[in-house]
Amino acid sequence: MLVAEMNTGRIDAFTAERGPTYYCPKCRGEVILKKGRKVVHHFAHKPPTTCSWANGETRAHMESKIVLAEALKERGLRAEVEFVVNTLLGDRRADVMAWSPKGLQIAFELQHTPIGLSEIERRAVSYSKAGIAQIWIPFLQAKVWDDGASRPSGWFVERYSPRQFERWVHGFNGKNGMWMYDPKEKLFWMGRLAGHQTYVEESTWYSEGGEENYSGGFWKFSKRFKELSLEGPFKADDLLIDITRRRAFSSSGYNWPAAKVARFIVRDPAP
Ligand SMILES: [Zn+2]
Repeated sequence: MLVAEMNTGRIDAFTAERGPTYYCPKCRGEVILKKGRKVVHHFAHKPPTTCSWANGETRAHMESKIVLAEALKERGLRAEVEFVVNTLLGDRRADVMAWSPKGLQIAFELQHTPIGLSEIERRAVSYSKAGIAQIWIPFLQAKVWDDGASRPSGWFVERYSPRQFERWVHGFNGKNGMWMYDPKEKLFWMGRLAGHQTYVEESTWYSEGGEENYSGGFWKFSKRFKELSLEGPFKADDLLIDITRRRAFSSSGYNWPAAKVARFIVRDPAP
């Protein structure tokens, strides 16, 4: 956790100093400031605790919030990590909340671990009802680099088995594809899924009457696999934010609410 509370209000682990007592914003239990050279500065619950915010959060997830929030601040936007939205169900913290110059709130959800369909749908609905624009950014898994190959535009994985929430995010963004995050290099990629075709081998057999039968010999779309094209990589500093609106839609068990959808657009290189 990157943000704790003290008597004077919210404080982030980067600014905090050793000495004062810090508290978890959720359970009000005491948390300890962890500052080290190799770890991301953060707060950890003093054991024992039963707080759900004490569950092991990956270092990569904490890092991603900092990378993004710093880039947003760098360009003069207000940005806060782990910002509490009171109307959110479940974990009420948006990973990063930013404010557009006109004051519109934009929630960034950096998804390192898989999230269930009903949970992501519920969260998307609450953001939408609160008038907050949202962008869901799945983490790229290391196997993407093992299974794929370099392309002039970036990277290509011919047989990619998208996680359910990634299919949801891709559908939520419609034709705009989905932004993904590489935790190793701390860079962003524009990802697009497309149908993956598999060849059904031709086979021949004889029926009892001695009649020759054929099957297969054609291509069909795989249900499990998709092609994943990644364009990039991009540094957070090179990405601007654009906001569009989408309508509600449901298909094959997926539900997408009407919502303000934020996406990155790549800043034109300096002339
Ligand atoms: Zn707590």
